[in-house]
Amino acid sequence: MNNKLICDKCKREIKLKQKHTKIVKIENDIERMYFKCHHCNTKYTISYTDDEFRKNINTLNVIRVKLADKSISVEAASELVKEYDTLMAKNKLISQGYRKKYESVV
Ligand SMILES: [Zn+2]
Repeated sequence: MNNKLICDKCKREIKLKQKHTKIVKIENDIERMYFKCHHCNTKYTISYTDDEFRKNINTLNVIRVKLADKSISVEAASELVKEYDTLMAKNKLISQGYRKKYESVV
């Protein structure tokens, strides 16, 4: 996997590692996942999540496991892929919505 990222602020390369990814609680069930540039400490949001988002992630994992089962029919698989795409789109909207809400005041 190629994770080459250039920091907007210091223009240096950010080597993104799992341990640099942090999660902070914003309010109620809303959490922000972000990483920091290890040169200048600028924070970059990966996504915002809430209960629904995380529930969808669990469902996505279940779908992935089901899809890995070679014995499922093509019809069943295509239904699962459709469901998968729908949930991915939903989560994208959820995260974007919070991003607008929390980051428009920058
Ligand atoms: Zn930087």
